[in-house]
Amino acid sequence: MSHAAPNKNTPFFKEEDFLPFTIPCVDEDVINSAIDCLKSGWIATGPRVQKFETDLCEYLACPHAIAVNSATSGLHLALLACGIGANGDGKKTDEVITTPMTFVSTVNSIIHAGATPVFVDVEPNTYNMDISKIEAAITPHTKAIMPVHFTGMSVDLDLLYEIARKHNLRVIEDAAHAIGSSYKGRKIGSFGDIQVYSFHPCKNMTTAEGGALSVHDAETAKKMRIQRFHGIAKDAWDRYSKDGNQQIDVITPGHKYNMSDLQAAIGIPQLQKLDAMNVQRQKHVARYKKAFESWDEITLPQDATYENFNAFHIYAILINPEKADGMTRDTLMAELKNYNIGTGLHYPAVHLFDYYKKTYGFKRGDFPRAETISDRILSLPLFPQMTEEQQDRVISALSRIFNKPQPSCTSSESR
Ligand SMILES: *Cc1c(COP(=O)(O)O)cnc(C)c1O
Repeated sequence: MSHAAPNKNTPFFKEEDFLPFTIPCVDEDVINSAIDCLKSGWIATGPRVQKFETDLCEYLACPHAIAVNSATSGLHLALLACGIGANGDGKKTDEVITTPMTFVSTVNSIIHAGATPVFVDVEPNTYNMDISKIEAAITPHTKAIMPVHFTGMSVDLDLLYEIARKHNLRVIEDAAHAIGSSYKGRKIGSFGDIQVYSFHPCKNMTTAEGGALSVHDAETAKKMRIQRFHGIAKDAWDRYSKDGNQQIDVITPGHKYNMSDLQAAIGIPQLQKLDAMNVQRQKHVARYKKAFESWDEITLPQDATYENFNAFHIYAILINPEKADGMTRDTLMAELKNYNIGTGLHYPAVHLFDYYKKTYGFKRGDFPRAETISDRILSLPLFPQMTEEQQDRVISALSRIFNKPQPSCTSSESR
């Protein structure tokens, strides 16, 4: 197969604008809210964080929401609040079962807590952790399961919680991709143990950087609030406001994981627009599906066997080299870059990074499904405010790369 090189005469090629795989969706309301906060005289943790947490509780239908400065901090905080860590004679630490198809921060948080990450391979259709493999990975040291709702596709939570209950394990759902997702008609975060969200600029909603936890028992939530802010058993807002009490006590050497009011000022209007933004994502996903569904060269995101709403944080496809004249993922990414189209790589399987190989002895072959997916996966541009014209550039470029007829909507005649 010859891959036609883009040239400036092709109608979709505009050298000047590189299309990144995502752009945060920030409008005037968000900008004005941030400005109001900056002018208010209070930009650290304060009333806006309190309101953001209340709004999150309402949106997620959960009893406790805790805003933090990143999902990475949130995952660590969750493990600490569950008392998971080294716990032992120094030879055996607690173990947390998770997936290699994730961002490294999921795994690093386990290591920072002093515990040991234990991987199970993923399912072939959703790329989520294969729940049927969890029980074989449980040992007397296992304390928690940390699933990832990959791309926003919920893991099969009924099955997962059944195993967790049977073995008395905590569940910390890495929901960094899944704010707005649901499982069998129930929103992620409205039930279960602990969920952790990311508001990094590339996620479904943003606070510039930031994250939050939804928690379903008061005792765990209380521990998180203390660990979030130096181990102080009182919030700064309580201390410095007019009616506040200056007396504090430190009951544990805590962390500095609090969210600022400036971040919450961005998050409040973002949360109000989240469902509308997720609907836009669905529209783009449907257009990609329509364009590509008859192609053998790529595998599109597949649905689960159970009812769910996938918030589509990313649109991750697989290249099938055996159907595409041996083209690799890296070549496809490079070709798209020649067309000025950015892609994402979510994710290289975590167990094959140098540190984890050296430290835990992981090797290629340990989790074959995750490895195949990791070799073939790439994320196409997807963000709420992406225009049809921008999306057509992606469809057009892929059509050329795979020698497909140009879709009618992007033919030169229509320009
Ligand atoms: C983005 C992401 C994180 C980390 O989020 P931060 O807010 O950047 O710390 C953790 N897990 C997954 C699956 C992610 O995609």
